Amino acid sequence: MYSDVLIVGGGMAGSALGCALATSSLFSKITVIDTTPIPKAPENEVPDPRCVTLTPISQKFMRSIGTWNLIEEKRRAGFKEMKVWDYYGTGSMLFEDSYGWVLENKAITHANMTRLSQFPNVEILAPAKVKGFSVRTGEVEVELEDGQKLTTSLVVGADGKESKVRNDFKIGAWRSTYPHCGLVCTVKADNKVPTAYQRFLKTGPIALLPFWDDYYSIVWSLPPLEAERLKKIPPAQFIEELNKALHDPSIVSFPVSTQLDAPMIREITTDRFSFPYALQHASKFVDSRVALIGDAAHTIHPMAGQGYNLGVYDVINLAHDLCEAAKVGKDPGSLMSLENYATRSRLYNTLFAGFEQFILWNYTDFGLIHYWRNANFSLINNIPPLKSLFQAGANGTYYVPSHWSWVSEMPPEEIPF
Ligand SMILES: Cc1cc2nc3c(=O)[nH]c(=O)nc-3n(C[C@H](O)[C@H](O)[C@H](O)COP(=O)(O)OP(=O)(O)OC[C@H]3O[C@@H](n4cnc5c(N)ncnc54)[C@H](O)[C@@H]3O)c2cc1C
Repeated sequence: MYSDVLIVGGGMAGSALGCALATSSLFSKITVIDTTPIPKAPENEVPDPRCVTLTPISQKFMRSIGTWNLIEEKRRAGFKEMKVWDYYGTGSMLFEDSYGWVLENKAITHANMTRLSQFPNVEILAPAKVKGFSVRTGEVEVELEDGQKLTTSLVVGADGKESKVRNDFKIGAWRSTYPHCGLVCTVKADNKVPTAYQRFLKTGPIALLPFWDDYYSIVWSLPPLEAERLKKIPPAQFIEELNKALHDPSIVSFPVSTQLDAPMIREITTDRFSFPYALQHASKFVDSRVALIGDAAHTIHPMAGQGYNLGVYDVINLAHDLCEAAKVGKDPGSLMSLENYATRSRLYNTLFAGFEQFILWNYTDFGLIHYWRNANFSLINNIPPLKSLFQAGANGTYYVPSHWSWVSEMPPEEIPF
């Protein structure tokens, strides 16, 4: 069985790429393989703590492939401003027009997979396991554990940070650990405002992201031992420590105090989970007959809420280039069709990882560096062109082409309120 493109990994990135390619109607067959069954739509009243914040570009992309409206309206919670401040307390940033959405990972994957199953030229094999790949002239043979053999012009590795595709195609990866892991859970607050909060604490950043009703997602980055401790303490003590982290007065108030008004947390409504963090970059994002996207190509610290959004920009760039190549009859697996994606995606992913690393170094806790970091907060907050530049970078505006080949008309901008 031959496919133009065979995607290994039907998570949020792989299923999104399948949708974009299928929407273009330029490919005769696309196959998506995942080791796990297609997830069910989330139905719980309490939001799942495994969630992502989406930038306006990522939201626009979901509308372009027809998956946005497949998610129940309530579960597409929007926010319109973002407040960032520091435990040391002399600077802060307030982004008044910083639109974003908080969505459960399961809701995104389910919507993408539902959309994919509506295309007659898409085959979904899930659960199914790849045994190995043999690269031949002009194609790759993919053998599954059940003995099935498939052929394709291009294998896309969208199989997460431990990517089998990356390993089997002998693409190396540079990896370094962060001093943090992530503690996530869903909580209820005393009131709900459409604002995302992030406070930089001595131990690492904590984010409070608004879901629907008065639910919020907590993403608390901490040293692993501290995360383990916070996972085990009784819920009432956890709420107390959480409120202290968000509300304790800043250490200094000179030249100006920047205590911000985050909501008070009343109740924890899910289990607490922890995830290890890693900074990882594949040594190359493409090779002959293979391309990597999403976490298979790169992972970063989630403090800026960009990991999956960078994966969406990969999807947009790769899908656009593959569609343009298909229009002129180019082989999708040839290096000529892939090199533009490789250059662009490496550039924005490296820039973003470098930017995050710079922020983390600023949090190395010594001497007067507190003042330097808080002065930067104030500088960005008070110089409108700098603030707009910062915001456009966080919105994803610079990383994707202005027109996307799978839609004849771009969806208009949409704000959550
Ligand atoms: C605590 C935390 C908070 C985060 N918050 C944010 C946020 O706010 N915003 C944001 O943008 N990002 C965030 N991220 C990052 C985001 O979760 C990831 O970047 C995203 O999930 C990656 O999606 P993916 O599809 O590339 O990989 P994955 O989600 O890992 O999906 C990989 C898929 O491949 C399948 N698979 C694996 N191996 C194989 C195989 N051999 N064969 C076939 N299939 C296979 C898996 O079953 C899975 O379905 C956060 C991450 C963490 C840990």
